[in-house]
Amino acid sequence: MLLKFVEREMANVEEIDIVIVGGGICGLATALALHRKGIKSVVLERSDTLRATGAAIGVFPNGWRALHQLGLDSILQSTAIPFQRAVDVLADKGVVRETLLSEGGEARCLRRSDLVDALANALPSETIRFGCQLVSVNIEGSSSYAALQLHDGSLIKAKVLIGCDGANSVIASYIGLKPTRPFSTCAVRGLTTYPNGHGFAPEFLRMRKDKHLVGRIPIDEKTVYWFVVLQWIQKDAEMPKDSTSIRQMTLDMTAGFPNDIVDMIENSDLSSLSLTRLRYRAPWNLLSGNFRRETVTVAGDAWHVMGPFLGQGGSAALEDAVVLARCLAKKLSNADLNGHLSTRLAKEALDEYLNERRRRVVLLSTLTYLRGLLLVEDPSLLLRFLCIIIITVLFRDPLNHIRYDCGEL
Ligand SMILES: Cc1cc2nc3c(=O)[nH]c(=O)nc-3n(C[C@H](O)[C@H](O)[C@H](O)COP(=O)(O)OP(=O)(O)OC[C@H]3O[C@@H](n4cnc5c(N)ncnc54)[C@H](O)[C@@H]3O)c2cc1C
Repeated sequence: MLLKFVEREMANVEEIDIVIVGGGICGLATALALHRKGIKSVVLERSDTLRATGAAIGVFPNGWRALHQLGLDSILQSTAIPFQRAVDVLADKGVVRETLLSEGGEARCLRRSDLVDALANALPSETIRFGCQLVSVNIEGSSSYAALQLHDGSLIKAKVLIGCDGANSVIASYIGLKPTRPFSTCAVRGLTTYPNGHGFAPEFLRMRKDKHLVGRIPIDEKTVYWFVVLQWIQKDAEMPKDSTSIRQMTLDMTAGFPNDIVDMIENSDLSSLSLTRLRYRAPWNLLSGNFRRETVTVAGDAWHVMGPFLGQGGSAALEDAVVLARCLAKKLSNADLNGHLSTRLAKEALDEYLNERRRRVVLLSTLTYLRGLLLVEDPSLLLRFLCIIIITVLFRDPLNHIRYDCGEL
């Protein structure tokens, strides 16, 4: 009886070489980068379909370089117009600052649905498994395989496990990363379509007024992506859930903004709206610490969720994908004759990925954090002064972070 039970349980356990948890930008890009190197992987996504929550994403030259490595740059370029500059307006102080972006390369704002569809469509059909929620992870002592428990009770054993499961990552907790922290703000994101054209300049506008920040980027001649960062004064449980209430709350809080901003929010596409409490992984927690446990690691927001103040989280996730796949492919070329990756080689590959990415991730997270403090957290005069000093000393060139090149796949 017991033997039969054990046999049945063992038959239900599936063994897979590389498992990626999370079918967002990072998980799909990692699977695609591996696929381009001829390496199979399986993506487990808890939702039943691809998610495009967040409406759109600004992609800067560093992100385009990663998309080029994934072979998706030309398809995606046809979906959005380039924007040449960022314009920061401090409406309360009457200050306007312009940064020319074109010098650093190309910037465009992509609909998230275009990006995730392009990533998913380039993958073999059996790669993504929907409706698969990871509940817990354990390492099997004897084999060093990661044992993944899914919500439906099934078990998967993975030789390499990559956590791309976002800001509330189960895998980051398993590895032992310090918890992420909330900013004192939340963000509403949405799309607005103007049937006769919006007429806005092709620029990334950021306007701050009364402690609220509004961002707007044209996607094409008729559609704009916008986000509003609002002071978060409620408890998480009281966050409005339905789109009509989210829009009303946003309108109430941005009532003093210029008419074109208020109209944009009022006429937004309700189905595109989402409200997110902003979180970050403290840059000082990224400086040191272990981001691998046996053959389990993290990428994208699961590793370095950073807030939207530089618009770099998604591009950083694409860079992670390229570097991680490159490191795994390099080690696989040293694998045994059957192409099997030993646990030792897998660990070496993950360490090379983490070493190569750490400095980049720390710098991006630090700059985002400092910009966030200055833009929306209203720090004391002393803290403001310190932030400005650190930015001036460490990040003198404002375009340096978008010049980054993650290298060839
Ligand atoms: C307001 C705002 C504006 C932003 N603007 C920009 C921008 O302009 N440019 C930019 O580059 N970045 C921007 N970002 C950041 C960007 O959205 C993220 O960095 C990026 O989406 C991270 O992708 P990801 O795949 O790592 O995580 P996610 O997109 O969170 O994907 C995680 C996936 O994992 C799945 N998942 C989670 N848990 C489990 C589980 N247990 N089992 C199975 N599946 C699971 C989820 O369903 C989801 O599909 C912005 C973020 C915010 C909040």
